[in-house]
Amino acid sequence: MNLVIFGPPGAGKGTQSAKLVKEFNLFQLSTGDLLRDEVSKKTEFGNKIEEIMKSGGLVSDEIINNLIENKISNPEYKNRIIFDGFPRNLEQAKSLDNLLKKYNQQMSLALNLKVDNQILVKRITGRVTCSVCNKTFNTFFDPPKTCDLKDCGQRKLITRSDDNEETIVKRLKTYDEKTFPVLDYYLKKGIMKNIDGMQEINAISDQLFTIIRAVRSWLW
Ligand code: AMP
Repeated sequence: MNLVIFGPPGAGKGTQSAKLVKEFNLFQLSTGDLLRDEVSKKTEFGNKIEEIMKSGGLVSDEIINNLIENKISNPEYKNRIIFDGFPRNLEQAKSLDNLLKKYNQQMSLALNLKVDNQILVKRITGRVTCSVCNKTFNTFFDPPKTCDLKDCGQRKLITRSDDNEETIVKRLKTYDEKTFPVLDYYLKKGIMKNIDGMQEINAISDQLFTIIRAVRSWLW
């Protein structure tokens, strides 16, 4: 099954997607990660993308749709994709439906992690990621002590360049204006489930697992 995970920046989409990947052998398609890959190549294209990301705005639909089609068209990922950070506006949601149809697939479930804004700001400004094992920590709630790699002495903690207070305000505004209406799109399709994203990480994933198992049993 394909599913999409929603929630404002800092809601825990990446953390929960990683757990769903492990539990259900899914493929996590994070447009933010794909864009950061482009940025790291330091090409002219990458530099342009970086500017937009730093401003807290959205990268053009054309760029995003090309990145997405590359993955949806890959038979290896057929009907096992978690869309994380996409679709981010109504146009992207409609393009996604068309792309899924083109490759004989469909969206079965939309999950929405709900988190209050004050908590989001702390989660984002405190977020650091290990450059070796990619594990994410939070300097307020989950200070970096252990890593997934045994030998992580060379660990370098990185803060994303758009995880600062100024950009966060803009990212939250972009979410409210552009992405929030997409929730209604999936609500009308009857596949939207809301989850309290302020619970403990494992309590959230347990709830997500239960929802996904139920939807899978209806599908098969
Ligand atoms: P994320 O890692 O999902 O928080 O995304 C980081 C940044 O990448 C966003 O603030 C946007 O600038 C850009 N971005 C990620 N996904 C999309 C998308 N689907 N459409 C447009 N811009 C995106």
